[in-house]
Amino acid sequence: MRLFDQRLTTGLLMLKASLLALSAFCSIGIACAAEQAPAKVTIARVGSQPSSVGPAKNFTGAVRVDSPFQGTAPARVAGGIVTFEPSARTAWHTHPLGQTLIVTAGAGRVQQWGGQIQEIHPGDVVSIPPGAKHWHGAGPLVGMSHIAITEIADGKSTEWMEKVSDAQYQQ
Ligand code: MN
Repeated sequence: MRLFDQRLTTGLLMLKASLLALSAFCSIGIACAAEQAPAKVTIARVGSQPSSVGPAKNFTGAVRVDSPFQGTAPARVAGGIVTFEPSARTAWHTHPLGQTLIVTAGAGRVQQWGGQIQEIHPGDVVSIPPGAKHWHGAGPLVGMSHIAITEIADGKSTEWMEKVSDAQYQQ
């Protein structure tokens, strides 16, 4: 009987210790959840962000950027909707973490250094690998819009290089 009592007491003490540990864990868990409450969902309404112009040093022709977006750290995604007038294009460039382009309108072109110019159309998804030298832009007769999704490394999403010459564009 005494042995049974001892076992019971030990069992109860262990149960009590477990409950204490559990409650401590829970209170820490709740505290952590409260401290790391996620930021609020936001909606950037269409037309609420002014269009910006693709700078002449990085683009040839008329290029407009709309609906710029940037993820909240630790996310490093950024991008926007880029619209190229006919014959407008980026300069040659690379992206340290690559880029995804989703064509939404018109008819465009993309070329990797050393490769052929490829036609791109609405619905096409172009994957630019990290460090791959390339350009993208409109076709000669029709404009092109794409959503550009790029990740930022060390504060930079793009390494700009020389312009795409008319001879390179028209090949
Ligand atoms: Mn690019």
